[in-house]
Amino acid sequence: MDILVIWLLITPLFFAFGWIAGRIDMKVVLKQAKRLPQRIFDSVDALVDNKTGIASDELKQVVEQEPQLVELQFSLGRLYRKRGENDLAIKLHTKLLTSQYVFSNETKDKIRLELAQDFQKAGLIDRSESTLLKLLNSEMYGHQALEMLLLIYQQDKNWIEAIDTAKKLASSDFSFHTELAQFNCELAQEAIIKSSYDKAKEFVTTALDTNRKCVRANILLGEVYFNQEDYTSAIQTWQQIEKQSYQYLPLVLDKMFDAYLRINKVKEGLTLIKGYATLFPQLNLHDVAYQKLANYDTPEATVEYLRNSLIHRPSAKVAALIIDARAHILEAQESKSDAERIKNLLLKYNDKLSYYHCGCCSFKSKTFFWQCPACYSWESISPNNNEG
Ligand SMILES: [Zn+2]
Repeated sequence: MDILVIWLLITPLFFAFGWIAGRIDMKVVLKQAKRLPQRIFDSVDALVDNKTGIASDELKQVVEQEPQLVELQFSLGRLYRKRGENDLAIKLHTKLLTSQYVFSNETKDKIRLELAQDFQKAGLIDRSESTLLKLLNSEMYGHQALEMLLLIYQQDKNWIEAIDTAKKLASSDFSFHTELAQFNCELAQEAIIKSSYDKAKEFVTTALDTNRKCVRANILLGEVYFNQEDYTSAIQTWQQIEKQSYQYLPLVLDKMFDAYLRINKVKEGLTLIKGYATLFPQLNLHDVAYQKLANYDTPEATVEYLRNSLIHRPSAKVAALIIDARAHILEAQESKSDAERIKNLLLKYNDKLSYYHCGCCSFKSKTFFWQCPACYSWESISPNNNEG
């Protein structure tokens, strides 16, 4: 490019910078910066040092002096909630809602949303729900209010409202089909407890229509058939889990064998267990397999199963079970005591390592949950609690 052309382009830019600089009054900028109360900086410093008590005290002084700084009031409210001082947060937001300042409708809705969170955190679920219901028509916060309501209905085990709310929230981005199927399963579970089997079947059908991969629906349907003494249908239903998601088989295997037992087909039951154990060696089927083989098959078949498992997928649990299965061949009392001690040590080790893990958060438990109690995700906990 010609040097003259470059200068022709650059020169107007210098003029433009000069014009902008002339309009920024640095004195005003500095004055505004000075206007921010020192306590805000003190509060931020305290937060950086994790001293939330000092941070909230400093912030409280600022909002008392400058009550019109509503965003700062929200920050103080959140700080109170973080510190578990929910009563202070409720007081702050209630006062704000009835203050003399004229807030826009949007700001008033934001205050209500904060207040609903205060109530929820304080365990005042009814008050949180009624506050959120007032926000449903809010363009800005309606969606957030629905999300919070969905959580409340789940905690309350109000599955009908949860279904209604999830349907309102469902979009092309997030269909809620897993959740909707699980809510129907919860209703089916309640119906089974009341022996309302027809009702339970309706909920299970809806669950499967919503999410054909819903394993829990088939587990519950099998339970309904089992309770109605239709053991063949129960077995057929539970066998479908293998195609849906075989990881869930450990949850039904014991009951499945029981169904075979009820129709006097023990041999078929044992074949099924051994088949699953061979097909899915990564699953924790050892306890059920050992218990059933030891009770209904030959000692040789039992030891053969355990030995194969130990060779192909060694674990402390299988090692303990093989000691248990072979203990009777020891004659000396001392040898029997040694074997018992080693077995218990291995079982203790297995117990230390066997947990159900949530794939969404760090939650782990000895009990299996369909919904993680920590992060509230559905089907995020692996049903396989093998040594890990
Ligand atoms: Zn979780």
